[in-house]
Amino acid sequence: MRSLMTLVIPCYNEEKALPLFMEAVAPVRAALAAGEYDTGTGEVLVFDPCDTELIFADDGSTDCTLKFLREYHAADETVRYVSFSRNFGKEAGIYAGLKAAKGDYIVLLDADLQHPVEYIPVMYEALTSKTLAFPDGDGSVRGHYDSVAMFRNKRKSDGRVRAFFSKCFFRLINRLSGLHLVDGATDFRMMTRKMADSVLSMNEYNRFTKGIFNWVGYNTLWLPYDDAKRCAGDSKWTTAGLIRYGFEGIFAFSTKPLTIAFGLGIILCLLAVIYAVYTVISTLIFGNPVDGYPSIFTMVLLFGGIQLLFLGFLGQYMSRMYLETKHRPIYIMKESSEDK
Ligand code: UDP
Ligand code: MG
Repeated sequence: MRSLMTLVIPCYNEEKALPLFMEAVAPVRAALAAGEYDTGTGEVLVFDPCDTELIFADDGSTDCTLKFLREYHAADETVRYVSFSRNFGKEAGIYAGLKAAKGDYIVLLDADLQHPVEYIPVMYEALTSKTLAFPDGDGSVRGHYDSVAMFRNKRKSDGRVRAFFSKCFFRLINRLSGLHLVDGATDFRMMTRKMADSVLSMNEYNRFTKGIFNWVGYNTLWLPYDDAKRCAGDSKWTTAGLIRYGFEGIFAFSTKPLTIAFGLGIILCLLAVIYAVYTVISTLIFGNPVDGYPSIFTMVLLFGGIQLLFLGFLGQYMSRMYLETKHRPIYIMKESSEDK
């Protein structure tokens, strides 16, 4: 029996990008159905033919995105959509898309063609290949994969400052959380039904999908891709949004900040005891006067700052616990292509 591949595409105000996306994806779908793809570099990939379906997760768009999706579905049953009652964020869109997906293989990709659709046959071939064309550095074959994930090897679309902070973020989160996120990792990936079900089984409210993919395990093959500029429309990210996303990743997957607070607390207590003993001895034996006002002021500020910082860490975990215990739905669906 032919396999089915589902393309899950979260969209938020993508009326400008959607027509371009549909145009770009059509030849790729045809190639997948034919079982053959010409990469344009003289290489022809051959794989088991598979059918495809598209699932758009409309994340509460306020433009004509939903209207377009209704039209696409009316013209082609294999194009489906779910539409939220408001903007719930891309992570919620991914979750809803995975839930609605029927495919044996599932691909996540953005609507703005920054995740070039031409890589889909390459990913499919790598995931289903029986010849295992990707040997490790030492020549050994790595075995069977459950997921093919793409990382950007050139950051064409990012400014230098964003690229720098992104690199720092990946280092920091790997160090703190024990996850192994590849620098430049994106949400562009293909996975098997099994892995998608595992991702769905993690129904936490605070979703950091990059971490979830890593946490569920399975064998992932990382392939580099050349990033493209957004085809139309604007990026939904603000600098503040990116910083929030970074902290979300750290607090969702690591409790190390609490351990650091604990460790630093112990060290400071020890230092305080040593300093107290030193002050008593030096006053009793040498009659030294106690250090003056500026040093006390500095210490009060320093310790006040440290205490507030770690209280803030604690608050971050508590606020997440608070939201999780409410068991709110990850998204609210207002309409879908399945509605009669
Ligand atoms: N997106 C979404 N909900 C949001 C923000 C973004 O579904 O609240 C979608 C968006 O339509 C796009 C993808 O997520 O398909 C990536 O967004 P964007 O291009 O703005 O991010 P960037 O590529 O700049 O990181
Ligand atoms: Mg984009």
